[in-house]
Amino acid sequence: MSEEVARFFPYSSFRPFQDKFALRVYAAAASRKDAVLEGVNGLGKTAAILAALLPTVKQRGLSIIYTSRTHRQCDRAIEELEKIAKKASVTGISFRGRREMCANKFVLQNSDDTRTAMELCNHLVKTHGCSFYENTESNPRTLRKLLREFSSGVFTSSMIKERCSEFDLCPYEVAKRLLSNVDVVALSYYYVLDKNIRANFFRYFQKGLRRSIIVFDESHNLPEACKEVASEGLTLQSIRLAEIEAHQRRQKRLQKICMQIAEVLQEIAERANEEEELIEPKEFVSVLKRRLGTQDLATVAQRLEDAGEKNVIERLAEGRSPRSNIRRVGTFLKTWLETSSKETFAHVMSFRDRENRRNPALEIISLDPRDTAKEVLSSAYATISTSGTLEPLDSFREIMGIPEGAITESFPAPYAPDQILCIAVSGTTTKLNARNPDMYEKTARRIAVVSSSAPENIGVFAASYDVLEGLREAGIEDMIRKPLFWERSGSTSGESDELIYQFKQQAGKGGGVLMAVAGGRSSEGADFPGKEMTTSVVVGVPYPRPTATVRAEIEYMERTYPERGKLYGYTLPAIRKASQSAGRAVRSITDRSAIVLLDSRFATQYCKRYLPRWIRENLSNMPDDDELLARRIASFFATNSDK
Ligand code: SF4
Repeated sequence: MSEEVARFFPYSSFRPFQDKFALRVYAAAASRKDAVLEGVNGLGKTAAILAALLPTVKQRGLSIIYTSRTHRQCDRAIEELEKIAKKASVTGISFRGRREMCANKFVLQNSDDTRTAMELCNHLVKTHGCSFYENTESNPRTLRKLLREFSSGVFTSSMIKERCSEFDLCPYEVAKRLLSNVDVVALSYYYVLDKNIRANFFRYFQKGLRRSIIVFDESHNLPEACKEVASEGLTLQSIRLAEIEAHQRRQKRLQKICMQIAEVLQEIAERANEEEELIEPKEFVSVLKRRLGTQDLATVAQRLEDAGEKNVIERLAEGRSPRSNIRRVGTFLKTWLETSSKETFAHVMSFRDRENRRNPALEIISLDPRDTAKEVLSSAYATISTSGTLEPLDSFREIMGIPEGAITESFPAPYAPDQILCIAVSGTTTKLNARNPDMYEKTARRIAVVSSSAPENIGVFAASYDVLEGLREAGIEDMIRKPLFWERSGSTSGESDELIYQFKQQAGKGGGVLMAVAGGRSSEGADFPGKEMTTSVVVGVPYPRPTATVRAEIEYMERTYPERGKLYGYTLPAIRKASQSAGRAVRSITDRSAIVLLDSRFATQYCKRYLPRWIRENLSNMPDDDELLARRIASFFATNSDK
């Protein structure tokens, strides 16, 4: 191990393969290259990445921007940095947006999205209406004292918020001024990916992308996150609200325009046979031009945006939240016009409420993550993409547009062979043409076998909510003796947190069964160490339904990467979801866990070769035999009874 990396490594010894992982990260930073590195949970990736990047960061005056999808994951990086700070001089903060850091009650109560919070804050600052901002500006001595304190150690955003509250200063303003003075900033992907948020962020972060090493943690999410930030949607309900807004503000011409746009969308929705249909974007533009009686839709869009801006300013002056649906319609129309000739976008009509076909929406869907990622990849000093589920690494690299010279490697699991049991069981499937009551009953019985053979909590991750419902109708609740906890489609994050909390409470009390969906809220982002989940059962390969968007993605991928369209747009995302779900039971180096893949397709070479190395190398096939399955699981846990 390089002495330089060891200087920042916070533990007394490395886990198996952790030192090799760190060396690859070190090599990437030192040679200014991008890296794509796969390693399972428990390998100790976060500590290894930070320790391996810090020597280069310190020598060359760079910063680490550590990004992840959730704040929880960002805080984990800060926890590791705190440990490093006990042996070496390092500094860092986790940074969040105004909605999380703002101290002003009016802003907190009146903003439910980032843009609204930003506009409210800007208005209050401009009109001297925020006492926290005024305090920050008028107390330079206190501000300097806090900046000195925060830039000499490691602090989470909530620690900054708490300390600032002692002096009634604005935590967001204080954190902003710290950005350029610390070694590590941990934040959400979106600060780096969304071009508007990024532009605002780098106004305060003076080192810029060129002097930053960007870490993309849990980067299997990156392709979707990139597409998400470049996509937009507009519901019929929003257009109707824009009509009402125009009526209230006596903007008669705009009211009529919104009404006509709503009519066009309504007509498309009435003709639709499917829950999602592709729209020819230029045809939609022609229909709209005819309906509005103008050839110049760009001017119409601009007029809507301008009027919306004016309404926002008036609402702010009235002490109201700065929302404008008119502006929303204008911005969406502008984006539609800009993207209508681009083949990297699909234009879709969808129903937001699938069952009742209520609230139709227009969607502009980005098909190529490279559009969003290219500026970051070409400008950053280096990037490190890492996750437990990235294989095949070259496919990930290609889809993201990471240059060919990038360092790529997949690391084996750091566990002893008797710590992990991975089995693919034949005899059941969630293939669409095989879904019937008999198949659901057989699958439900098999899950019950796993539940009674494995100790404590188990997690069941079905291919979709339809499959979950099929298992319920097959009577799974009567087959399993442990209490069941059902994840519901469309549940809020609060409901999901409560469900997971209740499920975790069963650990140590005989266990429960989480009935969730691969790719759903419980299958990513939540940790289940030890008894909180001894076994994960993946029911079916979670291929998406062949909606218009999915078909458009496959076709786009096929045009861009001939012969690999279906693989990139359909198969790999499904296998990654399955692997993420499988990994829920494998959270730390001390875990002993079983992974049961219930679908004959997992036993085929086709699926196996796309599974991550740490599953693939431990995976064995099992025949269609419940008794054998019960014995295999029971004997695994009997010899590993300490989980
Ligand atoms: S200045 Fe700070 S406290 Fe005031 S509104 Fe903006 S973010 Fe909130």
